[in-house]
Amino acid sequence: MTTHSVGIGSVKPNELWAYERAPMIIYWELTNACGLSCRHCRATAQPEAAPGELSTTQAIAVLDDIVGFATDGEALPHLVMTGGDPLKRPDLAELVAAAQARGIGVSLAPAVTPLLTREKLFWMKEIGIQAISLSLDASNAEYHDGIRMVPGTFDATLVALDHAAEAGLAVQVNTLVTEATAPDLPAVYDVLSQHKLMQWSLFFLISIGRGSELVELTPGEAEKWLMWAASINRESPFRVKTTEAMHYRRLVSAPLLRAGKSWTEIEAGPMSRGFGIRDGNGIVFISNLGDVCPSGFLPTVVGNVKDASLVELYRNTELMRSLRDPEQFKGRCGICEYRNWCGGSRARAFAWTGDPLESDPLCPYQPKPV
Ligand code: SF4
Repeated sequence: MTTHSVGIGSVKPNELWAYERAPMIIYWELTNACGLSCRHCRATAQPEAAPGELSTTQAIAVLDDIVGFATDGEALPHLVMTGGDPLKRPDLAELVAAAQARGIGVSLAPAVTPLLTREKLFWMKEIGIQAISLSLDASNAEYHDGIRMVPGTFDATLVALDHAAEAGLAVQVNTLVTEATAPDLPAVYDVLSQHKLMQWSLFFLISIGRGSELVELTPGEAEKWLMWAASINRESPFRVKTTEAMHYRRLVSAPLLRAGKSWTEIEAGPMSRGFGIRDGNGIVFISNLGDVCPSGFLPTVVGNVKDASLVELYRNTELMRSLRDPEQFKGRCGICEYRNWCGGSRARAFAWTGDPLESDPLCPYQPKPV
């Protein structure tokens, strides 16, 4: 990768951005079966599994394929098994064991339903699940349960959070950020501060799937809440990150650069993990039917694991290659000095314009051409 003069520093080649070889994270929607029917569900989940989901044999073949991302002893991608509700897969334990036998680390994103018992969380720890994620979209039951469409989910989520901590599982909590939910974020933070978690991820809504019924923040409001997130991140007992709001990295790094920190120092700092990651660049998504997309929120299919190699689809399809090349980005993202660290949400660009290489409409930044 070339060195980019950025006006406030110089971006140099870095292993963090070497995503041409392999993604850092593979999100694998094992099933779209789920006991919830959340208002913003990307997977448009349903009570029973859809016909055509990958069989156990097909899923294990995918794991064999994933090993091909690292033929010279490099790090393998981490696998996040999601859904729907991955606990609805009867072969979940078999797939986790098969992944681990191949050296692939696994995390799980279960839905909070009666399936997620204390025993199940201890079982997850026992079988080697590295981390789990749970969703909490509000500071109170009325609003959270209204989004999740099942009464009692708010209380059950907090109980699951404590049971997971008791079991020794690392937990990430995901919170949906929309026009309606954003003012509640400080109260959600207060609730979470009373529990033990590793990381809080603020997911900035993209209007796709059932989420198209909800309203995204304006760019000005998004900037305000990202600055708030950056401010609490400095003192929070857990790490605060964002999903599909990559320009958080601009807000985090700009004051450090102004204070004289070098890019190298920032890259090595605690907030740098994931700099450069975005849809198709460090991330890839496999649907319950085997379709491969740059991310779960950028639903353009580049192929299917039933008849193609995930390694090939990730490395060599035209869309995936273009998403890893900021020189091809258009508009503000195309000339922005932060395009390597940030690059904007390619998924939101696609949702709003139909072109995944366009500017991220949630970012108000006006870059100086370089
Ligand atoms: S203009 Fe694009 S690349 Fe620059 S900070 Fe905003 S989203 Fe990121």
